[in-house]
Amino acid sequence: MDKKANILEQANAKLTEYLTLKRMRKTPERYEILRIVVQTKGLFTVDELTEIMSKDARFKVSRATVFNVLELLNEAQIIVKHTLTRAAQYECHLHGKPLICLICENCGKVEKMEKTEIENVLKSIRSRKLSIKKQILYLNGICRKCEASQRKQSKKTSKSKTLQIYNKENRTNIK
Ligand SMILES: [Zn+2]
Repeated sequence: MDKKANILEQANAKLTEYLTLKRMRKTPERYEILRIVVQTKGLFTVDELTEIMSKDARFKVSRATVFNVLELLNEAQIIVKHTLTRAAQYECHLHGKPLICLICENCGKVEKMEKTEIENVLKSIRSRKLSIKKQILYLNGICRKCEASQRKQSKKTSKSKTLQIYNKENRTNIK
């Protein structure tokens, strides 16, 4: 069996287990949305997944159904929901490994960091105040791309400022 099929099978099994436990119906829509989620790389919003579903899914599903099923998959700990931006972002996260996310405060891009030492620390954290279900660490900052374009922008503005001063001086000289 290839890796992708294997992951889908594991995801399906996890969903079946959850639906059985919660005595919920095993509708074809739920499994179809899960199939698309498993094959979608990286993070996606409800709208993005609805768009992908409209092209790749075996049958039509509404945005409301996509939203409800994503919430359910999040509950079932098959995916992770990030509520960092105005539109929540989701990603497939089958094995519940700790996540370290790098978030750009400017463009909202989320990258993953692979650091086993931090993962182990996250895994070992216990709290009296909270029963921890998911270990996710968010690190905020400015991504390199935004940083570079901001630097370019500030160079431009400082250049035009020099130009203005130069023009002013020139004008005074003319007078
Ligand atoms: Zn950025």
